[in-house]
Amino acid sequence: MPATEDFELILRGADLRVTRPRVATLAAVHEHPHADTHAIVDAVREDLGEVSTQAVYDVLRALAEAGLVRRIEPAGSPARYESRTGDNHHHVVCRSCGAIADVDCATGSTPCLTASNANGFVIDEAEVTYWGICPECAATPRDTEPEPVNN
Ligand SMILES: [Zn+2]
Ligand SMILES: [Zn+2]
Repeated sequence: MPATEDFELILRGADLRVTRPRVATLAAVHEHPHADTHAIVDAVREDLGEVSTQAVYDVLRALAEAGLVRRIEPAGSPARYESRTGDNHHHVVCRSCGAIADVDCATGSTPCLTASNANGFVIDEAEVTYWGICPECAATPRDTEPEPVNN
């Protein structure tokens, strides 16, 4: 886990002014990969005390624009943020509990960016989301399932 000084360096490296909310938000995203805004706001508040939700939203937008965090938005899920940027990795999402895990590109470095036909577009991102059931949910029978009948 990078220290505060490292986050300050990361911010300066991206030409962003170092502020406490920026350092705290960047740290929160590093500590909680794929956290949603709500969880990040909670983590920042634990660190800084009172800070408005809007302030954290603004910081997240600035960090995403600077490429320091990546925003992902699986269908039906609120936006999530992560500090693993630039490798175009994919995600697997649990249909049951919404847990998210990283999935590397299937065949090495970013082949998904080489579209079979780009239609003249310059492509810089390919978003692949795998959907399934996470191990925890697979191991826990759901209460919605009907009770087995023994007769
Ligand atoms: Zn699950
Ligand atoms: Zn990820």
